[in-house]
Amino acid sequence: MQQLHGVGPQLAARLEKLGILCVQDLLFLLPLRYEDRTRIVPIGSLRPGQRAVVEGEIQLTEVAYRGRRNLLCKINDGTGGLTLRFFHFSRAQQNGLARGKRIRCFGEARPGTGGLQMVHPEYRFPTDTDLAADDTLTPVYPATEGLQQGRLRNLTRQALGLVSADGLDEWLPDRILKAMGFPGLLEAVTLLHRPPADTDLKAIQEGRHPAQRRMAFEELLAQHLSLRKLRSKTRDEPAVALVDTAGAVPDFIGSLPYALTGAQQRVIAELLEDLAEEQPMMRLVQGDVGSGKTVVAAAATVCAAACNRQTAIMAPTELLAEQHAENFRQWFEPLGQEVALLTGKITGKARQQLLQRIADGRARIVVGTHALFQESVTFDHLALVVVDEQHRFGVHQRLALREKGDREGRCPHQLIMTATPIPRTLAMTAYADLDVSVIDELPPGRKPVTTVAMPESRRHELVTSIRDACLAGQQAYWVCPLIEESEVLDYEAAEKTANMLAEALPELSLGLVHGRMKSKDKHRVMQAFKSGEIDLLIATTVVEVGVDVPNASMMIIENAERMGLAQLHQLRGRVGRGGEQSSCLLLYKPPLSDLAKQRLAVLRETNDGFKVAQADLDLRGPGELLGIKQTGLMQMRIADLMRDADLLPEVHKTATFMLKERPDAVAGLIERWIGEAGRFGKV
Ligand code: ADP
Ligand code: MG
Repeated sequence: MQQLHGVGPQLAARLEKLGILCVQDLLFLLPLRYEDRTRIVPIGSLRPGQRAVVEGEIQLTEVAYRGRRNLLCKINDGTGGLTLRFFHFSRAQQNGLARGKRIRCFGEARPGTGGLQMVHPEYRFPTDTDLAADDTLTPVYPATEGLQQGRLRNLTRQALGLVSADGLDEWLPDRILKAMGFPGLLEAVTLLHRPPADTDLKAIQEGRHPAQRRMAFEELLAQHLSLRKLRSKTRDEPAVALVDTAGAVPDFIGSLPYALTGAQQRVIAELLEDLAEEQPMMRLVQGDVGSGKTVVAAAATVCAAACNRQTAIMAPTELLAEQHAENFRQWFEPLGQEVALLTGKITGKARQQLLQRIADGRARIVVGTHALFQESVTFDHLALVVVDEQHRFGVHQRLALREKGDREGRCPHQLIMTATPIPRTLAMTAYADLDVSVIDELPPGRKPVTTVAMPESRRHELVTSIRDACLAGQQAYWVCPLIEESEVLDYEAAEKTANMLAEALPELSLGLVHGRMKSKDKHRVMQAFKSGEIDLLIATTVVEVGVDVPNASMMIIENAERMGLAQLHQLRGRVGRGGEQSSCLLLYKPPLSDLAKQRLAVLRETNDGFKVAQADLDLRGPGELLGIKQTGLMQMRIADLMRDADLLPEVHKTATFMLKERPDAVAGLIERWIGEAGRFGKV
């Protein structure tokens, strides 16, 4: 980086924080939008809110004292007049703005007292030869602390200069560029950083410009290739074959109080086949909420335990880890197998003892949160890692557990479970390193949840239905609005709702859970809800993942129009788990946009998570599919899995071609977009 003018250690460090380590990274930091400074706009045609370059003659400069002291400068270009206003100014600046001088400025025109004004415009005094304005559109980069736009513009200008002299490696095969109508890399980055005045900005805004599509394609390709490389690398590592010679798995299945569904049986068979190999299993089990994934994971765990090996089970939240620990204890303690629960809240001596039992192998099954990743956690002979609700964990975290293995350096088998249905093309990209099994059948006797959308003004009607349902022995969830990304605001909204409901429903017992509670308190409330002591649970979206209370039959969701379809589907999956007919009520704030109407209609029309996911992809909208973005399942600089989904089939084909024919370009692409080729593998 230091080859660029003006980049000292301090700026380099700031850039590094943004992930910008080299000139190329800088070129991949694309502008958010552009400003048109290519034309000088007649003052008379300026509209309020317009950001524009104007040029005129200074008619008057004076200091005004109304309110705050400020400097006013009135200019006119013959078509109209404009006031420039400065709240911070020096004497020299004031003197420079002399009457009769020509001035060119850029800023936003805003309505003022005597016509339009610009507050703190950028300005300069054009010379006679300086007639033209800029010849390309001006990029506006994502705002970053301590990095001004001017700086970034200067750096990208220098970077473009360097690469147009030295060139940029073109890794995409010519054939693809032609077939897709993509520009070359240098042409694409030059256009995106300095678009000519006649560029189709609307296409850029919508992500449809060929220059952008080319960059997105390349990034998706690099991501996909790196996962495929990772997959073949993992395949080469040794693992312990886990074979259920004693028939422990059939015994376990026979001991369950219900019969497994056909889909559960099929997936268990697939798992057992993988486990019996001397190379690590890398399998994703997808199954809609309530499809019974936990027991499938337990069957694999039974196999590992029967071979005297340890299993680690990772859950995304403490709530879920506790719930799993409870289930696994019920299944495994009768078999004489010790189940340990490791979360962040177990500390001090208790933690030391627990770590010791994990390290010497006495704890055969270890359930935990991300605390399991910590270095202080070592296993005696870990042979199976189960990761629940994968979308909450990134690829890196998942791989960190792989390192733990056993003392002979063998790699554990990996089973990833997700309730997030994901359309096939996306799965091939996001999970290119995994085999996929699908549990496509719900346990028998489940009645589809009835879903209704209603304006929030009809809340009070719900209060009556909740009272009736709860007095008849049912339970209900009330999920409070999602407010920005702030736990504090979420919590305040939830507390307000809880107070309102407590007043309206004095005959019921209410509980409140939210993300800011101590986990001990959260646990207590959840336990009370599970045992039926609490009738109505008011919650923030912490209940989204995995919570299993079969007696709950009503789910009320506020501000449903602001949530992603996948998330709403997850929340809805909390009910309809028992024998009772369940309902999900989506409260919204009118008026609904057409898009919002269509999205809510999808939920009313189907209970099938795959259909919901496909519709989410087709419609798009707030939140996004699988929460891929929020959770960084795939962190990308330019591509957007949803926006660019139509590129994926071609990405996959190109990847297959390049792995075979262009290994040099594969390495180059991964290096360019993901960093040193092994970064994923090392963590
Ligand atoms: P998820 O796939 O969402 O993780 P769970 O594993 O939590 O689902 O299972 C949901 C509920 O269904 C649990 O109460 C579980 O005991 C029950 N269940 C699982 N499999 C079956 C089955 N084959 N028949 C009946 N109930 C089942
Ligand atoms: Mg689950």
